[in-house]
Amino acid sequence: MWFSFCVPDLPNNTRRLGLIGYPLGHSRSPELFARFFKQDARAWSYELFPMQRVENLREWLDSNPDIVGLNVTIPHKQAVIPLLDTLHASAMETGAVNCIRVSRRPGLYLEGFNTDTTGFADMLNEAGVEQGVRALVFGTGGAALAVQYVLRQRGIPYLRIGRNRSKADVLFGELDAAMLSDRKLLIQTTPLGMEGPWEGMKPDIPYEAIGNEHVCLDLVYRPAITPFMETCKHNGARAFNGMRMLEAQALHAWELFRA
Ligand code: NAP
Repeated sequence: MWFSFCVPDLPNNTRRLGLIGYPLGHSRSPELFARFFKQDARAWSYELFPMQRVENLREWLDSNPDIVGLNVTIPHKQAVIPLLDTLHASAMETGAVNCIRVSRRPGLYLEGFNTDTTGFADMLNEAGVEQGVRALVFGTGGAALAVQYVLRQRGIPYLRIGRNRSKADVLFGELDAAMLSDRKLLIQTTPLGMEGPWEGMKPDIPYEAIGNEHVCLDLVYRPAITPFMETCKHNGARAFNGMRMLEAQALHAWELFRA
């Protein structure tokens, strides 16, 4: 079985949205979208569609004609790309899709977007970083690609810190205190510290080099104060979690779906 869920009993003309990915237990999306639905007179629903595989997405959408939009999460942000008809620049440049707008023209037409980029741009605005700042990005996965896209757009130079030399400029074990004290914007994009298997963990970096001129952004939003944030704050830095990003990417997706 490549999907496992029950179609709920919905009123006629309900425009269905949902999240595809696996596993989906931690998702805040239904709650966020329930708030947005109050702004629109039409009937909407938001469902979780746990899917281990996505190859048959188009056939599945053909048999669910009332689905008008999907959010995409781990592990499908890249795998869905070949199944789409068109990609927005943010999705093309990051190589990751977290939002699919579904239309019938009358044949199925799927547009891919990356609204994590909008979400991270909002997080960066909230943090209010200084002109001329340089960044370190911890982690080299899908979320890191969205972060890097926004940093390039803002003209913020960055180094990618990771475990795998093919994707990273510097390996975690090579990062020294001088590199850290020279770069005042630190962005944590790994799942370390997130509730679940990564709880209580943080990237292995020389924290003693972090001080009150640093701005530390953690994309993780559960718990609200992650171990990375806690340590950075303890050293005098300003630290922010990923809740603002989560809300902003969902709001952008909603604007695309309701258009
Ligand atoms: P992903 O594509 O699986 O990437 C995870 C990255 O973390 C990879 O680079 C991985 O390294 C690295 N990593 C994992 N375990 C590590 C460890 N023990 N030490 C060092 N690096 C490690 O996941 P993602 O989609 O980028 O998501 C990452 C996190 O961001 C998740 O917690 C997710 O919830 C969060 N996120 C938040 C938002 C938001 O709106 N706030 C949006 C997107 C994502 P390898 O490549 O070597 O495996």
